[in-house]
Amino acid sequence: MRDPVSWMREDYEKLVEQNFDWKIRELQGPSTPRAKVDGKDVIMLCSNNYLNLSNHERLKEAALKAIKSHGVGSGSVRAIAGTMDLHLELERRLAKFKGAEAALTYSAGFTCNEGLIPQLVDKGDAIVSDELNHGSIIDGVRLTKATRFVYRHNDMDDLERVLEEAEKENPGKILIITDGVFSMDGDIAPLDQIVKKGKKHGAMIYVDDAHGEAVLGKGGRGIVSHFELTHNDVHFEMGTFSKAFGVMGGHVSGSEDMVKYALNKSRSWLLSASHPPATAAACIAAIDVLETEPEHVKRLWDNREYFVKGLKQMGYDTGNSQTPIVPAMTGESSKAVELSNGLMDEGILALPIVFPMVARDKARIRNMLNSGLTKEHLDTSLEAYERIGKKLGII
Ligand code: PMP
Repeated sequence: MRDPVSWMREDYEKLVEQNFDWKIRELQGPSTPRAKVDGKDVIMLCSNNYLNLSNHERLKEAALKAIKSHGVGSGSVRAIAGTMDLHLELERRLAKFKGAEAALTYSAGFTCNEGLIPQLVDKGDAIVSDELNHGSIIDGVRLTKATRFVYRHNDMDDLERVLEEAEKENPGKILIITDGVFSMDGDIAPLDQIVKKGKKHGAMIYVDDAHGEAVLGKGGRGIVSHFELTHNDVHFEMGTFSKAFGVMGGHVSGSEDMVKYALNKSRSWLLSASHPPATAAACIAAIDVLETEPEHVKRLWDNREYFVKGLKQMGYDTGNSQTPIVPAMTGESSKAVELSNGLMDEGILALPIVFPMVARDKARIRNMLNSGLTKEHLDTSLEAYERIGKKLGII
């Protein structure tokens, strides 16, 4: 008799043959700039925990306190019986931090994109998306009945071309969607120009600022603040608490109308349980920290500048990086894998990004800088980059 699920093993084996399977590493303790991974002490250069807040005492204490006062689970989805005072306080605090009228939290950034985007456009509408947008946006876009248009990455002439086409073909609404900071290259979307184009064509603007918030803008207020825009310009400022905020959870900020609409329509909000109280409390504490301890964002940027300068001086190409996401380009995939393995041998965890995640000739190591890295960590990492890069003929 045929095994009805043997296809999974066969497919998986194909992935292994092509070296496309994920080799999952085990973090044996907290995600800190120096961490224990697979039994080895490493300098962490690939965590999204940009401000090292996931181990900040104020966040940990807030989480523990919330467990004592509210328990470990919320008991329901937000709409039924799962909205606690902590969830509402977090939304009020986030809206204030972002300078928006209102904010709504989701279980994750992924579920925000997947649940909200399909509710914003329908048949007869157009959705206009940057070609390098995150997979969660792509999945959200796939769930819409709107006509899809893709423009070349950060190319404003191409955006104009696509908008004209969209307007001609579609009588309905237009939604422009972009990542704020692109996660493979660390470059920033020209949101000010996108807003101008949007206004010309009467389009709504949605930005996914997962890698820009708590990093860009005044005190880490994100990309809308970075470009000195408002939520009249950018209608949906989406983000996540899972990166620089150091915790977990998606969110969107904008007008009160938007929030009322979004919570009544997004299936991922209506049909999935709310955060445990400890998560909401830790997110509130992260906002407290951002509002009162500006040194974290400053140290992150100092570390970023130091590291980029070091890599460039020894001859590395850091691509289009403008943020704490810093690629070290290697070209060929095999070189990226060898460089990453060489770094790991020297106690530095920095992962290769290879085809199909990026084009075949654009393989790289993606470094994610962190405010908690010391100068010694950075120097040790740079020395290893120089030694191994020379050995492999990359620099
Ligand atoms: N958008 C972007 C641009 C991201 O990089 C990510 C995380 N990889 C997400 C959304 C999803 O966020 P979360 O981890 O909160 O689901």
